[in-house]
Amino acid sequence: MSKIFGVMGHPIGHSKSPAFQQAALDHCGIDVKFEPWDVEPIDLAAKVESFRTPDFMGCCVTLPHKQAIIPMLDGLADTAQAIGAVNWVVPENGKLIGHNTDAPGFLRALKESGGFDPDGCNAVVFGAGGAARAIVYALKTGNAATVAIANRTVEKARSLAADMTDGRFRPSAIGLDSTSLADVVPYSNLLVNTTAMGMDGGPAPFASPVPAELISADATCYDAVYAPPETPFLRETERAGANPVGGISMLIYQGVVGFELVTGKQAPVDVMFAAVGAAR
Ligand code: NAP
Repeated sequence: MSKIFGVMGHPIGHSKSPAFQQAALDHCGIDVKFEPWDVEPIDLAAKVESFRTPDFMGCCVTLPHKQAIIPMLDGLADTAQAIGAVNWVVPENGKLIGHNTDAPGFLRALKESGGFDPDGCNAVVFGAGGAARAIVYALKTGNAATVAIANRTVEKARSLAADMTDGRFRPSAIGLDSTSLADVVPYSNLLVNTTAMGMDGGPAPFASPVPAELISADATCYDAVYAPPETPFLRETERAGANPVGGISMLIYQGVVGFELVTGKQAPVDVMFAAVGAAR
């Protein structure tokens, strides 16, 4: 039987993972097909059960299954436990273990594509959904000095801040209104958009969470939104003379960490970036 390796979500047609994971497998001479699986929520448990075979190599997990899959697995790695979401399943000693590579993927993207080390930084994260959860956790492990979570629904920002708070790390929660943002954004050297604002086909494709006038020219500005590659937030960043970094790098680096977990080989990062570029 052939090896089982792929990405599952619903829908899955838009996923760029097959393009760059297949390119990485081919480059490393691993004769395996990386498959896209369209799995409806009702079929998730059966799909996970089908992984209980020695042929299962690993699986990337995307929306809407990142939380629903947790009770179907045998255990969670520490990062997945802390974030409360799984984006990779890897077999370990016959057990299905859930991992979260969004957080380490974001840190590598910030460092490699943005030239930014979050150690000691003052950050604002716009949004309080799934991506924000991974990114606030990443900033905690990356030793950020302060993190403000700015969200349209402040209650959700408060809840995320509470989940991430420990003795040293105490994120604050604010609204996404201009008065609240003016108190923190100009004094922050890292801004991260994790809202759906600016996303193609989303609720506000032409909106930025913050205008150029509030952005410090010293800031690095990361947009988790990667479709389109040039978002309204990144345009405001450029207008402010700050450092813009697009979200495709996080998408690829979460896959880099996943590829390395599954294959035990160093991922060919340049090959993966080139494959995504060619697939656009
Ligand atoms: P999510 O859990 O649904 O969260 C959506 C967030 O956007 C919430 O904070 C929501 O605020 C906010 N929002 C939605 N519409 C808004 C509007 N009109 N005005 C202001 N805020 C609005 O989604 P997610 O999974 O975190 O994904 C968010 C974005 O990140 C998507 O574009 C996704 O593609 C991207 N993403 C990228 C990567 C990557 O690897 N680069 C990884 C994950 C996600 P409320 O709480 O007020 O509703």
